[in-house]
Amino acid sequence: MQTSVVDHPLIAHKLTALRDIHTDTPTFRRLSDELTTLLGYEATRHVTVEPVTVHTPVGTADGVKLARPIPLLVPVLRAGVGMLDGMARLLPKADIGFVGLVRDEDTLVSSTYATRLPDDLAGRQTFILDPMLATGGTMETVIRMLLDRRAAAVTAVSLLAAPEGLARLAAAFPDELRNPVRVVTACVDARLNDRGYIVPGLGDAGDRLFGTI
Ligand code: URA
Repeated sequence: MQTSVVDHPLIAHKLTALRDIHTDTPTFRRLSDELTTLLGYEATRHVTVEPVTVHTPVGTADGVKLARPIPLLVPVLRAGVGMLDGMARLLPKADIGFVGLVRDEDTLVSSTYATRLPDDLAGRQTFILDPMLATGGTMETVIRMLLDRRAAAVTAVSLLAAPEGLARLAAAFPDELRNPVRVVTACVDARLNDRGYIVPGLGDAGDRLFGTI
């Protein structure tokens, strides 16, 4: 598994504002959206393209266009929905699948309550959107769902990651060739607390995006 921590002053600036306990919900949503687009730029670095020639008003130009099959975006319900527009802005023609996982707050084990994915992902590049890579349990489950459906590559985009979650994914997907898995994040924080929250983190991303319901 590869990990890319995107080092950019604008990302650091927006992430700091996102973490701030005084940041209100509308601002939190906007910052999540903007950060996802900035991370998405790095996450799509290896997206496959094919050659194309276009006519300009004064000649012809050789360029590229996104290759088929088109990529698949997979926001993890519910907090991943806050990243969907930011990523779809870069890949407006991508298909969008959904998975819903809920974490038991006592055992920290997540269980799947919704899956809406194509059965066959052969040859497709896939992007999982989940703001917090904490224990890595949810991310491992979703990555396996995509690899089991024969995804060509899986890129997990998270605003923040914990060392424990990254270690879990590295142990689960050690073989780059068999399992092309990459994590793209803005920062790797210090640790998880005993409730499985990232420290210093930003709290509960779903609650901060959508309110406590
Ligand atoms: N999920 C969150 O929303 N926040 C954390 O810190 C960990 C998991």
